[in-house]
Amino acid sequence: MIKDVYACNADTCPIANDAPFRRARKTGEIGGPGGGCRSAELANSSLASREQAISGWIEPPHVNLPGRALPIDRGPVHRVTMALLSDSLFNPTEEHQMLRQMVADFAVREVDPQAAEHDEKGVLNVELFRRVGELGLLGITIPEEHGGAGMDALAAVIVHHELSKYDPGFCLAYLAHSMLFVNNFYHCANEDQRGRYLPKVLSGEWVAGMGMTEPGAGTDVLGMTTTAVRNGDHYVLNGTKTYITNGCEGFCFLVYAKVEGQVTAFIVDRECPGFSTSNHIDKLGMRGSTMSELIFEDCKVPVANLLGAEGSGVTHMMRNLEIERLTLAAMSVGIAERCVEIMVRYGQDRKAFRTPINRFGQIQRYIGEGYAQTQAAKCLVYNVARDIGPNIRNRVGSDAAKLFAAPVGKQVADYAMQVMGGAGYCREFPVERLWRDAKLLEIGGGTIEAHQKNLTKDLTRALGQSAS
Ligand SMILES: Cc1cc2nc3c(=O)[nH]c(=O)nc-3n(C[C@H](O)[C@H](O)[C@H](O)COP(=O)(O)OP(=O)(O)OC[C@H]3O[C@@H](n4cnc5c(N)ncnc54)[C@H](O)[C@@H]3O)c2cc1C
Repeated sequence: MIKDVYACNADTCPIANDAPFRRARKTGEIGGPGGGCRSAELANSSLASREQAISGWIEPPHVNLPGRALPIDRGPVHRVTMALLSDSLFNPTEEHQMLRQMVADFAVREVDPQAAEHDEKGVLNVELFRRVGELGLLGITIPEEHGGAGMDALAAVIVHHELSKYDPGFCLAYLAHSMLFVNNFYHCANEDQRGRYLPKVLSGEWVAGMGMTEPGAGTDVLGMTTTAVRNGDHYVLNGTKTYITNGCEGFCFLVYAKVEGQVTAFIVDRECPGFSTSNHIDKLGMRGSTMSELIFEDCKVPVANLLGAEGSGVTHMMRNLEIERLTLAAMSVGIAERCVEIMVRYGQDRKAFRTPINRFGQIQRYIGEGYAQTQAAKCLVYNVARDIGPNIRNRVGSDAAKLFAAPVGKQVADYAMQVMGGAGYCREFPVERLWRDAKLLEIGGGTIEAHQKNLTKDLTRALGQSAS
């Protein structure tokens, strides 16, 4: 019985009593104002909504429905089987399912309404960012004993996927904070450093980011020229980082600099003398987040802010790049999925030549191919997410996921714009914003060409003629 698979009791459900959900229940984010467990309610509403959605193409606003868009309804048993099969990939546990529901609810209610305004202004909604902290999502991959949600890479994918359906720009700020800073910092920090920084970055009181790229070194990251020289109880940093997400609002940054030619990681915060940031660097898309330069002019960083050992920066960087790329790929899936939903509805409602445009074969091609590409990217991203973790190296998987998913987001946004004609090009609809946002995913966190290069190198090492 499906209901039994999902149903649980508020007092005994281990998921509903986990830290992030406890926090969310207190604030009424899940379980309603009374704060009760919602697993059973969720299961019932999901199934009911699936029935409704399949029969009438009505999308319940807060429910993600794998299998929803099946064009042929083969009856309840088939539908339930399909739902369970896709749930095992996209929501492998009840905890993942509840997380998705919570983030999807939050995205519809609080992220979507502010997206266009912050895109227009080109600013981060810091207040909303702190709400994400209240929900326990800023430390999604951090163990509970250190104040995080204690979840895995697949959970991080769920959050990025759901937020990006409504505001990829805001989601990029979330990614820079929770993946580029928090996740990386946690794995290379000592207990003193965790104690000093984690509480405030997990609550969102301090916004954070990561500085790797320089004006003269992007893809060629090891060509960075920022230096750090030890001088008694501090290091002196000189150099500039550029295109740093959250640079304008950020209080602390994980920064890479070379100590005697060896890449080394530091925490630099606004209280370090000689540290400043440039003005906001304006950009095409992802405008719900900001970026700036980080400038180090004889910047004094306490030795206590050295992360790991001198020269261990490349290890930290490479390990973290995998989850960074995976979550960027998940953002593309979110963009593509929303664009499919929008073009399906528009294709049904809009008439030309007194005919709904979804009756035209050329429009059907955009919808059909857009859906198929989105599903392919989604399956790849979630499959790779099962094999990424702090102790699991999977550069091939994360590069492949981003290489494949990034162009899909851009392509499907383009299809949606084409289906909508002039309306798709106008600011009153979200597609033009998603279209602008999608392009970044082919550049940030590694360009398409960098992924091709890495994959060829890694696959040749594993499968080439000298490998045996
Ligand atoms: C919105 C935004 C947010 C960002 N946020 C951050 C952040 O928070 N922190 C951070 O550190 N960085 C950030 N970046 C920087 C981003 O990671 C870099 O832009 C990216 O890695 C590419 O580097 P680059 O811009 O210097 O391009 P370049 O490395 O100069 O590349 C230019 C072109 O040459 C190609 N190319 C380079 N080398 C090769 C090669 N060997 N073979 C084939 N082609 C090659 C590239 O693929 C690209 O097409 C951000 C960038 C943007 C746009």
